[in-house]
This record gives sequence, C-alpha cells and structure tokens, in this order.
Amino acid sequence: MGKLQKLSVFLLSVFREFPRRHLIVASALAGCLLALTAYPQNDVKIKRQIAEPLEIVIAERVPAAIVEQPQSFELNWKEQKVTSGDNLSTLFQRAKLSPIDVYKISASKAGKSLRNLYPGETLKFGVDSGGQLAELHYVKSPLESYIFTNNNDGFSAEKKVREPDVLIGYREGVINDSLYMAGKQAKLPDKLIMELANIFGWDIDFVFDIRRGDSFSLTFEDRYLEGQKLGAGNIIAASFTNRGKTYKAVRYTDSNGRSNYFTPEGRSMRKAFLRTPLDIFRISSGFNLRRKHPIHKKIKAHRGVDYAAPRGTPVYSAGDGKVIATGYSKANGNYVFVQHGQTYTTKYLHLTRKKVRKGQSVRQRQLIGTVGSTGYATGPHLHYEFLVNGVHRNPRTVKLPQSRPIPKAEKTAFFSATKPRLAQLAKYQTPTQLASAQADSSSAN
Ligand SMILES: [Zn+2]
Repeated sequence: MGKLQKLSVFLLSVFREFPRRHLIVASALAGCLLALTAYPQNDVKIKRQIAEPLEIVIAERVPAAIVEQPQSFELNWKEQKVTSGDNLSTLFQRAKLSPIDVYKISASKAGKSLRNLYPGETLKFGVDSGGQLAELHYVKSPLESYIFTNNNDGFSAEKKVREPDVLIGYREGVINDSLYMAGKQAKLPDKLIMELANIFGWDIDFVFDIRRGDSFSLTFEDRYLEGQKLGAGNIIAASFTNRGKTYKAVRYTDSNGRSNYFTPEGRSMRKAFLRTPLDIFRISSGFNLRRKHPIHKKIKAHRGVDYAAPRGTPVYSAGDGKVIATGYSKANGNYVFVQHGQTYTTKYLHLTRKKVRKGQSVRQRQLIGTVGSTGYATGPHLHYEFLVNGVHRNPRTVKLPQSRPIPKAEKTAFFSATKPRLAQLAKYQTPTQLASAQADSSSAN
C-alpha cells in the first residue's frame, strides 16, 4: 500500500466518526486521495481524471460485513492455496487433517460449494488444541467466502459476500498499430480491450476496417475493497471512432436484470451477424496495419473476403443458424456452410479442422472450425462468404439486418439511466478525443 493510499484509508476510518454532513465533504477528499494513489502519475491522459471530482462518495457506503471472523485465540490456523489438480482431499492431506473431516464437510449442506475448487482460491483451517478442525474458511475471492463451523453434529456453513467500492475509471487511446497495442498503451487490462472489441465488433471489422488514427474512449467500473484495487469491472460507456465515424455504446441493465450494450438511441449493439467471424486477437497481437493481405489477390471472381490468420485461430459462426454442409473439396479444402433463417447463408473455407456436423444448430460466436490452408490456399487464412438469397455479397459492406430497439416499456428507464453515463464519458474525453469523435466522415481514410 502506498503512503497516500494508507493516508486515505486512515482518513476514511476517521471520517466514519464524524457527523453525516461533514462526512460527505470529508469523504470526497478521501476519495480524491484514493484516486490519486490508484493511477500512475506519469500518464498525462490519466492524470486528467484526477482533476475531476469523483462521482461516487465512497465513505458514504455502509462498510460491508467483515469476512474474516475474529479468529479465535485457541485455534491454530493453517492456510492452503488451491493449485491445479487439487481437491478437498489433497488439501486436507497437506494440512495434515483427517479424511473423516473431508467426508463430514462434503456431506454438509453447503458442502457442494467445495466440489469445484479453482487455483488461486484459499482454504484456511482453524484447528483446536485437541487437533480437531473447528473452522474452515473457504476464500473464493476477496469478495466471496464460506465459513464452515464444526458443531457437534457436523459442519454448518455461512456464505459471506462483500460489496466492493466502485469508482469510475476512464481511459482513451489512439490506434497506431492495432487495437490491442493501443489498449495496452492506454493501460487497459486485456479483459477490457476484448470487451471493447466485442461491444463494437458488430459494426466494425477490427481486422480490415481499423486505420491509424482511429480512437476510443471508455468509462468502466474500477473496483476497490478497503482501499485495495480489485481490478476492473464492466465497461460503462464507450466511444469508438473508425475512419471518421463515431460509434457509441452504453451499458444498461433492464428490469429483468439483464445487462447489454446499446446505442445512445436505445438500439442493441448486438446484431444478427458478426462483422469478423474469427478471433481477432489471435490476429491483432502480431497484426500490423502496414502489412497487406495478398492471398487470393490473383484469383479471379473472388467472392468472399480473406482473413490472413495463424493456423488454428478459432473461427466463429457469424450468427445463429444451422449447419447445412460440411466437407472437403479440392478447391475449398475443409469447409462449413451455415444457413441463418430463410435469407442468409455464410461459408467458411480452408479450415484446418471442422468443429460442427451437418444439421447441427449453432449460436452466434460458436466455434465452428479453425483457420488453415486446406484446398487452394497459399497460406493459412479464412475465406469467408456471405450470401443473401443465394447471391454473393461483400461481407464487409453488406447491409445487415437492424438490431432490435429497447422495448417501449423500458424507454424512460433506459434514457434516465444512460444519459448521465454518456455525459460522464464526454466530460472525461480530452479535446483530441472530442474532435475525432465529432469529425465528419469526409475525413475518412
Ligand atoms: Zn478467398
């Protein structure tokens, strides 16, 4: 913990004693201190955020229940970290505890929670003076634990969940090489770079459409527990400017508790077809905008689009549908054809492996094969075709079916929830981001 961070945590604890009207002012100050410590000081763009007053007054939150019970003095505590291949028995063995306890705990009501242990989780064993297991703490994450207590007739369990403090994080970037590189430079965690590509992947082909100078900005949930950074949560709002055209998206949780991304007007970002039917990050990591994609240039009457990609790159179904053909031919190599409703068919050629069978239903983004160079192909690539009523169309420019708007009943709630989020994103954007977000399409290419 840095000095400032310690200070802000200290301040938080002091302010809890204050009358409430002081609390708000004081906590805003503490929040600023916390934000100061949370971001690297040498990044100009990130620094801007520090000047902004924080939206969330963190000390106003009621501190959540403490997971760790005050550990009894009579108990002797041992800790075991779950590593790959571990199960309850191996962990108990390492802690030198009886297999009978494994059985008793497994048989208890909450014992189910211990069936699937994952690397990184922790078991804490509280053993009494007689060598008996009195308490077991199963720590799944800083936010989720189970406390098992040994009673005379077996173990009872209690689940403890803590709510993190959520601040608003902001990042922006300009693309020089690839989205991935730009995301890294903007200090975005991989998870958020991928989420960003998923949000805009229905509108933008991240392999072919990206140009140097394209830019992005986003706000996201930045989660803390007692002043310690937990990592990023979800993207809240985002903007992506591609060749002069700006796309915006905002997260909204509907009355059924389902969260999705929408345009500011309330249309779903999710469309019937993906623009790029393969894992773009397998390409982007080594992808260079200056590099051309020469495969197939010489072949006449080329009716699809080619994505040069490493052999084995996952290929996804562009939309929900049914596999109408799979097989091998001299020209196509291994191929998969998918039909989507009455109107659309997509075709995927030169695969190393096919992962679906004829007649099988597939979901959008379901793995259907992997990139290869079977058939007439000079190197590994995906040849992708898009047919509308049996006629080949350019997959990159074909007009795709409109996505569904938000239901009428949700409209009022949608706008009141999302407008402040979009306004907040705009407030954080630096002048260059704003300019590119407002540039018209005459500056495209
Ligand atoms: Zn081709």
